[in-house]
Amino acid sequence: MDLSFTPEELAFRDEVRSFLAEKYPADIKERAKKGWSYLPKEDHVRWQKILYERGWIAPHWPKEYGGTGWTPRQKFIFEEECMAGNCPRVLPFGLTMVGPVIYTFGNEAQKAKFLPRILSSDDWWCQGYSEPGSGSDLASLQTKAIREGDNYRVTGSKIWTSGAHKANWMFCLVRTKSDGKPQEGISFLLIDMKSPGITVQPIVSIDVGHYLNSVFLDDVIVPAENLIGEENKGWTYAKFLLGYERTGIAGVGRSKMRLEMLKGIARAEQLDGQPLIQDAGFKRRIAQIETDLMALEHTNLRVMSSSGAGGGNLASLLKIRGTEIEQAINETLVEALGNYGTPYDVNFPRWDRNEPPAGPDYATGVVAEHLLKRAASIYGGTNEVQRNIIAKMVLAL
Ligand SMILES: Cc1cc2nc3c(=O)[nH]c(=O)nc-3n(C[C@H](O)[C@H](O)[C@H](O)COP(=O)(O)OP(=O)(O)OC[C@H]3O[C@@H](n4cnc5c(N)ncnc54)[C@H](O)[C@@H]3O)c2cc1C
Repeated sequence: MDLSFTPEELAFRDEVRSFLAEKYPADIKERAKKGWSYLPKEDHVRWQKILYERGWIAPHWPKEYGGTGWTPRQKFIFEEECMAGNCPRVLPFGLTMVGPVIYTFGNEAQKAKFLPRILSSDDWWCQGYSEPGSGSDLASLQTKAIREGDNYRVTGSKIWTSGAHKANWMFCLVRTKSDGKPQEGISFLLIDMKSPGITVQPIVSIDVGHYLNSVFLDDVIVPAENLIGEENKGWTYAKFLLGYERTGIAGVGRSKMRLEMLKGIARAEQLDGQPLIQDAGFKRRIAQIETDLMALEHTNLRVMSSSGAGGGNLASLLKIRGTEIEQAINETLVEALGNYGTPYDVNFPRWDRNEPPAGPDYATGVVAEHLLKRAASIYGGTNEVQRNIIAKMVLAL
């Protein structure tokens, strides 16, 4: 596939670059450079509102719902430029995940109520899929929703719910029928996180950050008007959403940016005076990663061109390769840090402490990011399970 850009595409790239130069707040950029994964919610909201005002917050949405109408190559250019500029990633739960479910399967009232607030980032969503004992085998989930007149009464618990402590809405898979095939008794509910009966408990991650939670639902009353599509058809909507989630996880633009960072460190002089790039073994590893990333980039663009942002059947493939490459870059970055690659990262960004970082600037946040992203091959469906999906596809089982 020819990846060289047409004059129109180059003009578009310039437009994006000028926009970023003018509108991307310098203070967020500074924090993003030091710890992209650790930006506070306020930074994400501020940046997303800037994109929203420009009309660029939802490139993957159809134009009628607030999308940009860009070609796949324009979307690709936009993502590349945002990542190269160290912009915060647009958080996926509203815009990439539940938004497409609502405009595809929701009714008019649901579209009118939820889509504008997703676009403006006034609502913050979390994903209530996994439960203790129901991760890879998601269809075994047990959180029950019993219909009582105009409401559902929901009881059960969710786990690993990213950002639930910051979210005001959760899209949630619930069991509405217990007999028959497990997949045929699942429904897709939108739940207001302020509803009485919801308790959120933190789970602290290996990098000492708090992103994950357990969410307990104890007789939570949810209006039946918050049911997406038909009762017991939630599995269809859930799988549709996972396609969007997995493609997003491929993260090509982000990996390209991290690879550039790795090359920068490899070119810097080490304590012994020799830049790492002069080590043939190290150079070969970087070359291997770069080749893999170029192949992924082409595949990603091909998939986007042929099947839209959901990634179709190839979403699993993109998810596996994207996370493997991301983890390879992170591991190599930690090795490149040498002495500064300690398990308890002294450079972990602490906005609140005002401590000068120890060691070179480039070491800031590298170990924390490496630890955090160990989970990338688990969330969104583990890579082992993605391989099963690919095997079934190839073998047409
Ligand atoms: C950082 C992070 C963020 C997350 N965020 C969210 C979120 O916001 N919302 C949400 O709902 N969930 C979230 N999850 C949960 C995630 O989707 C699950 O962890 C994942 O689906 C795996 O489920 P499990 O943890 O129950 O592991 P298990 O399913 O118990 O798997 C354990 C191991 O067995 C392997 N395995 C299981 N079944 C098979 C099989 N059939 N063939 C081969 N190997 C298999 C798995 O690959 C894995 O290595 C998050 C997880 C993490 C780590």
